[in-house]
Amino acid sequence: MPSSFLPLTRPEIDEATIAMVADVLRSGWITSGPQVLAFESKLSTFFGNRPVRCFANGTATMEVALRIAGIGPGDEVITTPISWVATANVILAVGATPVFADIDPLTRNISIASIKRAITPRTKAFLPVHLAGLPVDMDALYALAKEHHIRVIEDAAQAIGATWKGQRIGQLGDLVSISFQANKNITSAEGGCLILNNDEEVYLAEKLRLQGLVRQGMDGMEVDIVGGKHNLSDVHAAIGLGQFAQLERFQAQRTQLAQHYFDRFANSLAVKQGMQLPPAHNSTDGSSNWHLFQVSLPLEILKQSRADIMQQLKNVGIGSGVHYPPIHLFKLYRMRGFTSGMYPVAEHIGERILSLPLFSSMTTTDVDHVTDVVDTLFRAHI
Ligand SMILES: *Cc1c(COP(=O)(O)O)cnc(C)c1O
Repeated sequence: MPSSFLPLTRPEIDEATIAMVADVLRSGWITSGPQVLAFESKLSTFFGNRPVRCFANGTATMEVALRIAGIGPGDEVITTPISWVATANVILAVGATPVFADIDPLTRNISIASIKRAITPRTKAFLPVHLAGLPVDMDALYALAKEHHIRVIEDAAQAIGATWKGQRIGQLGDLVSISFQANKNITSAEGGCLILNNDEEVYLAEKLRLQGLVRQGMDGMEVDIVGGKHNLSDVHAAIGLGQFAQLERFQAQRTQLAQHYFDRFANSLAVKQGMQLPPAHNSTDGSSNWHLFQVSLPLEILKQSRADIMQQLKNVGIGSGVHYPPIHLFKLYRMRGFTSGMYPVAEHIGERILSLPLFSSMTTTDVDHVTDVVDTLFRAHI
């Protein structure tokens, strides 16, 4: 790769964070300890003083959330096909049955009308995803959940800093899971956190996080359920704390870059020829944190496949990505009876969606370059 390669995304780690990690490494205590407690405390404040516990990754966080909600064999969980495969895998991991609902073609988030049609007497939870950091329709989602007495586990892996009617995702809602994986808006290299409702859930979250263990006094312990080994280390928490301190700046930068994409694409050949942009900032009651800038390619008029377009972007030094191929078409899910044609909107979007570079240390000049190259490709291939 040329040194000038513009990746799809890149974490921005400052020297203060590196120093914080070095301090932890020298401290004599590198696994879960004071850094994790400090990170959880900052996150709790950020999410309106709701209880927050950290985990080793977002996948473990969601699995624990499902177990806290009591989801297991015989239960159905409704989710979206357009997400990272972890979203559906955790439903299988707890022994429950994933049920997909189709997506909305504009927001690319799970469609509430489609969720409604998928509800059965066995439905125990909704597992919506705020794709690319754009909130699902929270009012409609929670009204439906309340009506049917169904728990909600929000896969907010991508959504830290996103808001719904001015309130942060995580500040409202039921169980909310966030990821700090390397590509997310803030990272702890790997990590995640769960926003909880009450002390009983916190107690269970801590047990499920570490072997089902409860400590009793100085020398006693008891185990009565199977827990995982899902604790976050202080090394990771220190990275997370260093990143959290910069969240506001990262967010402002991402918003500015996304706006610049809109400005540059406004009169572009690509958009005139039918390339779809994501919903604009504040075009719904939800406000995106711009985790991803996803376009949808008009394959009907392009003489090239999406893979060819991605290869040509790469050839001129621009990274891109697909978020995501529909989950129900993976072999694991086909083996469970899912086939193409079941979720037409998700399949249509899944074939066309393309993420363009967007990360906090990118510049508006980089955006100019990407939009120019996209237009050049369109000129060559329509
Ligand atoms: C990143 C991500 C996850 C998983 O998080 P990890 O920390 O990688 O386990 C789940 N769902 C979505 C939508 C994600 O983007």
